[in-house]
Amino acid sequence: MTLAISILSILVCATIAIKLSRKKDGPKELCLICEQELSDPHYQDGHAFCSTHLHVYKHGKWKLLHKGNATSEDPEHGVSIYKAKTLLSQLEMPCYIVVDYEFKDENFVTIMSLMVLEENFERAQTLSKSILN
Ligand SMILES: [Zn+2]
Repeated sequence: MTLAISILSILVCATIAIKLSRKKDGPKELCLICEQELSDPHYQDGHAFCSTHLHVYKHGKWKLLHKGNATSEDPEHGVSIYKAKTLLSQLEMPCYIVVDYEFKDENFVTIMSLMVLEENFERAQTLSKSILN
């Protein structure tokens, strides 16, 4: 009995050790806005941020620029939203994508919302028009 317990505790310890080492070597958290790898992530609303963008996220007025669905059969729309985000980021307009999932007609639908700062809204709309429509 004692032997069984000690074997069990060794197994538990080994499992925990493996999990910890995986966590350490696993992919680093990315900033929700600039997507840089973070060695010291800051968390807000369940998202990770670099220190610059934590400030932007918390104090900015965000507005929905575009909302679209992507399914496994039609992932294209999601790709476009991601392209628009990349373009706006390159032009130093902070933006981020919120992802929601829904089960609809026996399919998982990914709902993506691209958020931009209110002050950049019109410029972002003009710039991303060709990508998102
Ligand atoms: Zn950042």
